[in-house]
Amino acid sequence: MTDKYAVIGNPIAHSKSPLIHRMFAEQTGEDISYEAVLAPLDGFSATVERLRKEGYKGCNVTVPFKFEAFKIADSYGFEVMDALESDQRADAVNTLTFLNGKIIGYNTDGIGLINDIQKNRSVELKSKRILLIGAGGAAAGVLHPLLEASQAPLVIYNRTLGNAEALQKNVTQHEKFRLISIRPVQFGGLDSEQFDVVINATSAGLTDSEIPLPPTIFASGALAYDMMYGRETPFMRFAREQRAQVADGLGMLVEQAAEAFYIWRDVRPDTAPVIAALRNR
Ligand code: NDP
Repeated sequence: MTDKYAVIGNPIAHSKSPLIHRMFAEQTGEDISYEAVLAPLDGFSATVERLRKEGYKGCNVTVPFKFEAFKIADSYGFEVMDALESDQRADAVNTLTFLNGKIIGYNTDGIGLINDIQKNRSVELKSKRILLIGAGGAAAGVLHPLLEASQAPLVIYNRTLGNAEALQKNVTQHEKFRLISIRPVQFGGLDSEQFDVVINATSAGLTDSEIPLPPTIFASGALAYDMMYGRETPFMRFAREQRAQVADGLGMLVEQAAEAFYIWRDVRPDTAPVIAALRNR
């Protein structure tokens, strides 16, 4: 019997996840269906409940529901902090598995980003100075894996300082990150510092908004990575003008999907042909 999966978001019509998972299924011979589901902004948990009742095996979660997905999970496939006890929203989930009446939450964005940077683009993160722009669900999901890979000081740069501070506070609760300096900085607060890897994890590109960055921000040979895909953002344009290597988030999208597919099906798809097929479209 065909196992059913979906991606839930709002908006969702633009999502490439159904196409990616269909390509994975074709490549691996797994018998699955995968569709895009629009949830009302106040109806995420009701939508998850409906899918569970209809026999779905799991789902992906996208903007703006990743923090809510964290809250509704019964357990997690990754380390979490006591965020449930406080009002913090610093843990995010993008993959849910429905198993024996329980919901298990995972976040595959981080591994997706790391695989795209290290494996597909051959940029090693170890000891690299990283500037992470944004403090929403995407930034929260990639922060731990980035620190694990770099083991180096990192700056979280965000429009709203409080959100960057909440993320920093959450991460420094982890024993293993206690010795790494993680500094929240509000937009406009960077001076002459330079970074080897600058990651735009904001949704500013959706509205063509500029990120206020000093032109000297990129170290020689720096990677400027925008998690957005499908369009050249002002951040990408700016980075290109400063002669940084520029990457969009298409590879990350496919890599995070591959990790979700692996969690659900225990089969690892080959991502390279899927990334190439999407780029050709
Ligand atoms: P959220 O809504 O959770 O977070 C939005 C972030 O963007 C916040 O830090 C917010 O700042 C900032 N922001 C929003 N608008 C602006 C603006 N006009 N100028 C500056 N900063 C702004 O979204 P997500 O974190 O879930 O997603 C962020 C982006 O990452 C999206 O574009 C999404 O498509 C992309 N993404 C890509 C993935 C991929 O696989 N390639 C995976 C996951 C996400 P503030 O705190 O001040 O509100």
